[in-house]
Parts: sequence; structure tokens; C-alpha cells
Amino acid sequence: MGFIGVHVSIAGGIYNAVSEGIRTGCEAIQIFTANQRTWDVKSPSDADVKKYIDDFKNSGLKKAVAHDSYLINLASTDGAKLAQSRNAFYEEMERVQALKLDGLVFHPGSYRGGTLEQGLDTVAESMNLALSRVKKFNSKLLLEITAGTGNTIGGNFEEAAYILDKVKDKERTGVCFDTAHAYGAGYDLKNEYEKIFKKFDSVIGLEKLLCFHANDSMVPLGSKKDRHQHLGQGEIGIEFFRKLINDKRFKDTPVIMETPDENDMDIKNIKLMKSLRKK
Ligand SMILES: [Zn+2]
Ligand SMILES: [Zn+2]
Repeated sequence: MGFIGVHVSIAGGIYNAVSEGIRTGCEAIQIFTANQRTWDVKSPSDADVKKYIDDFKNSGLKKAVAHDSYLINLASTDGAKLAQSRNAFYEEMERVQALKLDGLVFHPGSYRGGTLEQGLDTVAESMNLALSRVKKFNSKLLLEITAGTGNTIGGNFEEAAYILDKVKDKERTGVCFDTAHAYGAGYDLKNEYEKIFKKFDSVIGLEKLLCFHANDSMVPLGSKKDRHQHLGQGEIGIEFFRKLINDKRFKDTPVIMETPDENDMDIKNIKLMKSLRKK
């Protein structure tokens, strides 16, 4: 169940994500579509995009999603920053569109200097503007559940539901459920598996859950901190991931791990996740 994968590098060319995905044993991949550390991004050339699409078609990979730049804050209370963020976000969407990706995972942002309600409304407005500007967007904007650190939006299901409710284009939105973030936010995935997905279903709707970030957590339940740990080596533990990867409700959902790839850990994590599947 689920399409297992990791976040892969695009160093040397966007199409290298495909060979990296194959090398590590991915069934699904997540990528940055450009350098995520600078505002001054260079989009991949048409030739590189074409090579990526051709390579992906022949790869056996089932799904690919993008993660947006960490610099973007769609909830910013600073007018200039907000405009810059929204602009960068349109460009993210255009690259996602060109590359024919299945979704664009994004962090809702931070409302520092304002109120939570203003922040939530600003994110919804940012999404509405983005979806009206990139009209033929045939992918999905996937709002990521966060650990709720400080003024970060998205640290509970209600905030995500509030935002998505205000977005007019329901067809092109969904949620990315990061297990480490949810655990940090206070959802006890280790002990309350069914209860938490039931809650997600009643507040947001499970049909909206279109991507997992399957990270274990280095920090305790409810710590409001975001520290990823390798599969089974953290506070959540392997049994949660065994349930997740065998859960029929998520059989077509990308299950992406985002932990440091030192000592071939991506390959090892993917192998371990695959071994949890019931034969
Ligand atoms: Zn993220
Ligand atoms: Zn994280």
C-alpha cells in the first residue's frame, strides 16, 4: 500500500531526480523544482523539463510531488514579503504544471506580527489568488500539517480545515500529512492510530489526504518542535508506520521520507518501509 519514496536531489539537472529515485528504490519521489534557498530562482530549461518527463515516463515511478521553497510565507503580515511570496508561489505552480507533477506541498506560513485569524485568512487568499492566476493548474496544492511551532500555521487539523474551506477551488486542494509534525503538534500517532485518522476524517475529510511525509520524530509528543528522525528510530516508532503502509485507505498515496541521506540512509529507509508491507 502507498507509494514509498524519499525527497530526492535535483543537483546537476531536474531529470537527475528520476535516476536518484530509481537508484534509491523509490516508487514515488518528492523534489524541489528549483533552488529552495534563494528568491532568485532559475526555472529548468524546456529541454531539461522534457528530459525529466521522458525519463519519468520510463522509470516505473508512480507519483511525483514538489515541495515549495522554505522562503515562501503565504501568511506574511509584511506586504512586500507577502507579494514576493505569492509571486514565487505562482512560479512554483508553473514549474509543477510544466513537469506534470501530482502535487505541490507547501507550508501554510507564519502569522508573526498579526493574529492567527488574519494569518489563516491570508493563506486562503493566497491560495485563491494563486489558483485564479494559474488557471489551467492540473495538479493539487497540498497544505502541509505542521508542528505548530511559535506562530506557524497548520499545527492542528482545524486550522487546515478552516483554510481549505475558504478556498473556492476544492478540486485542486488537499493536505500533506507529515507524521513527525503531527506528533510534535500533539497527535499521538503511536498510541491512537485509528482515533487520529477518524479525527482527520471528521475535521478535514480523508479524501483530502493526498500525501504523507513519513518521518519519525526526534522530539516528544506535543513538543511543538519539528525534528525528523529515520524510520523506526524516533519517538513514533516502527509500529505506526507498519499500520500506515498497510492501510488500504492510503493505497495510492505517496509516502515520502525526508531524513538526511548520510550513509545510504535513503536506500535503507526505503528497504525497511517496503519490508513492513504484509505479503
Ligand atoms: Zn514540508
Ligand atoms: Zn519537518
